[in-house]
Amino acid sequence: MRWQKASTKCMNTVKQVAIVGGTHGNEMIGVELVKKFSLHPDLLQQYSFSVQTLLANPQAVAARTRYVDRDLNRSFERDRLQNQTLTRYEDRLAKQIDQMLGPYSDAPVDVILDMHSTTSNLGLTLIIDEENQFTLQLASYLQQINSSIKVYSTIHSGRRQDALRSLAKFGFCLEVGPIAQGVLTADLFQKTEALIYTILDYLEQYNRNQVSLLNRSLTVYRYLEAIDYPRDEHGEIQAMIHPQLQFRDYEALHPGDSMFLTFEGETIYYNGAAVVYPVFINEAAYYEKGIAMCLTQKENIIV
Ligand SMILES: [Zn+2]
Repeated sequence: MRWQKASTKCMNTVKQVAIVGGTHGNEMIGVELVKKFSLHPDLLQQYSFSVQTLLANPQAVAARTRYVDRDLNRSFERDRLQNQTLTRYEDRLAKQIDQMLGPYSDAPVDVILDMHSTTSNLGLTLIIDEENQFTLQLASYLQQINSSIKVYSTIHSGRRQDALRSLAKFGFCLEVGPIAQGVLTADLFQKTEALIYTILDYLEQYNRNQVSLLNRSLTVYRYLEAIDYPRDEHGEIQAMIHPQLQFRDYEALHPGDSMFLTFEGETIYYNGAAVVYPVFINEAAYYEKGIAMCLTQKENIIV
């Protein structure tokens, strides 16, 4: 066990929560859950805080594509939001969403739950961008309720600055997979919905000062670095994820383990010095970003 001093950022009471889907228009589980919550607002009304829902990128949802002009979930840096010369569709959308939910809006939200899905085998993952006490205790609670929930910390990758969820004081991404883009599966839909209710229940307990953590342990996978595919001088991909690594998200990758397989059938091995735990292995949307996987470090901490 390793002690990690959490920052003291805290919250007195949760007042406003936003549940977001369709930040990426081809991630159908979030899209359909937001539609369901809009049709059945009673599902979200038994709490001491108010819950609003947002279909974040309607044009991308209509076109069943990730985005129209640029990735909405990389469009929320303060500099971008204040730059009046940026007028592409997602830039305008980001400014509108910031005015609705953001820290300088009339009704800033305390918590954003942004629902995503991935072609990689992330199972049920909670992505956190900060490791303050509120965030870590929520994450620990979720792991105690459901031990299959993984917690991925991007504290070292800068997502706190550019993601939609960064508009809230406490932003969380629910990332579920594996599932193809544009596809729904009932199993992951129901698991995502259940995870939303578990988080809302936790926030309710928090408001009532009734949070009870059975223990304070948490397993967290911390971002180390992104790994691109092997490419030639023209940027063309030269190898694929090795079959022995495909769908092995969150499993240990040792120095010398198979990582990529070239089109000629040659294996490329992991040549790092330490054991790492890859995530987002073969995520379809990350080919354009030059990311074949993200390496993480596994830590057991006390929150
Ligand atoms: Zn997404």
